Amino acid sequence: MKHFDAIIIGTGQAGPSLAARFAGAGKSVAIIERHKFGGTCVNTGCIPTKTLVASAYAAHVARRGDEYGFAAGDVRVDMKRVKARKDAVSGRSNKGVEEWLLGLENCTVIQGHARFQSPRTIVVNDEILEADKIFINVGGRASVPAMPGIPDVPFLTNSSMMEVDFLPEHLVVVGGSYVGLEFGQMYRRFGSEVTIVEKGPHLIGREDEDVSQAVREILEAEGIRFRLNAKCISLLKQGSQIGVGVDCEGGAPEVLGTHVLLAVGRTPNTHDLGLERAGVTTDDRGYLLVDDQLQTNVPGIWALGDCNGRGAFTHTSYNDYEIVADNLFNADHRRVSDRLTAYALYTDPPLGRCGMTDAEIRKSGCRALTTKYPMSRVSRAVEKGETQGFMKITVHAETKQILGAAILGTGGDEVIHVLLDVMYANAPYTVIQRAMHIHPTVAEYLPTVLSKLEPFV
Ligand SMILES: Cc1cc2nc3c(=O)[nH]c(=O)nc-3n(C[C@H](O)[C@H](O)[C@H](O)COP(=O)(O)OP(=O)(O)OC[C@H]3O[C@@H](n4cnc5c(N)ncnc54)[C@H](O)[C@@H]3O)c2cc1C
Repeated sequence: MKHFDAIIIGTGQAGPSLAARFAGAGKSVAIIERHKFGGTCVNTGCIPTKTLVASAYAAHVARRGDEYGFAAGDVRVDMKRVKARKDAVSGRSNKGVEEWLLGLENCTVIQGHARFQSPRTIVVNDEILEADKIFINVGGRASVPAMPGIPDVPFLTNSSMMEVDFLPEHLVVVGGSYVGLEFGQMYRRFGSEVTIVEKGPHLIGREDEDVSQAVREILEAEGIRFRLNAKCISLLKQGSQIGVGVDCEGGAPEVLGTHVLLAVGRTPNTHDLGLERAGVTTDDRGYLLVDDQLQTNVPGIWALGDCNGRGAFTHTSYNDYEIVADNLFNADHRRVSDRLTAYALYTDPPLGRCGMTDAEIRKSGCRALTTKYPMSRVSRAVEKGETQGFMKITVHAETKQILGAAILGTGGDEVIHVLLDVMYANAPYTVIQRAMHIHPTVAEYLPTVLSKLEPFV
């Protein structure tokens, strides 16, 4: 049996940095990966999708050439070249993680599927490894719900979409949330017909209704069709096409497409870890139960990243690493509950979000002030010809602290950090109004937006 100071399962967004931290401190560490180095973000998530979003954006701007004073002719997308660009960007990151890990002194890199044999031992490739500290960073995969037709009808997920090097004639996206909307807009811009089927009454159901409605209008203006309230979704092969049964309140009971993408959430990779042999518990959806410092119910075993259900983003997984590492190495008692909600939806224009939603603010019962400002009045947006969306900020009426914000508009994914950092500083929003900002930017409008606060209802 080989002994290590630490064993890490998975090379997602937390594992490699943690391995480097242990190795750098002169501790022996083993890191185990069963598939591709870098995990979801690098291979099938953020990096490849945002690379594809960039190709789709370029095609979209080229089609709008007339508005900017040039003629690009008939814009046709070569999906093989789009995929090759995506593969190159994603491949560089994947190689980068692998080479980084292999180059670390004190770090043993193992390719294989890891399973617990006991609370202190892991089996991989028929070998038993032992450590006092074990870190689980196994991430998740696309959920495939047991909807009628699933066993018989071919469908795509965010992973198999990475192999697509052709233009689907009509892509039906099941799921109108973050992943579904990004793929939907991207493929519409590549040239596919796109229909998005969503079982809820709104797209991106956790967002404020006005945000959801504005995103819908932006996508509809590009020719994407929506079927909301699709309570009972099923798949059926119809000759060369695929029928998606929608059981909606309005419209035909079926959408016919050539390809179906399932984008209906994620499932943690915890079912095949042998957790029962270590006594580690999960909730009923398979998420590992952790405390505020990411320890599972078994001392000496931690869970980081998507598999602990405390975040579903690259930055939350990396922040998990920082929390665990600071607690272990710096005696800095950082906690998950100290972090603020922050993320982006990478449609174009993007949505940057931080803090609470309207519903959460209402539930908190605090007295709040709010303001909403259209991007059509932001000169940077007008200059760029990208005036869709709005900025919305809500603050605490007494403390003047920012409670939540949504910036749906050009640069929204970047500008949101101005507000986020003020929130982390526990400073009142008024500091933004005393700062000198750069012109012309979207951020320079934040003081103007904040000067129009009204009671939040
Ligand atoms: C389409 C899509 C787009 C996304 N876009 C964004 C975005 O723009 N921004 C953002 O912040 N987030 C985005 N995300 C989410 C982001 O990718 C994840 O939150 C992020 O990758 C964190 O993952 P992780 O560290 O938990 O583990 P992962 O990256 O999922 O890695 C887990 C690793 O563990 C390995 N593994 C699993 N089980 C075992 C085992 N038993 N033995 C050995 N190895 C194992 C897996 O092979 C995998 O490599 C996106 C996700 C998707 C699906």
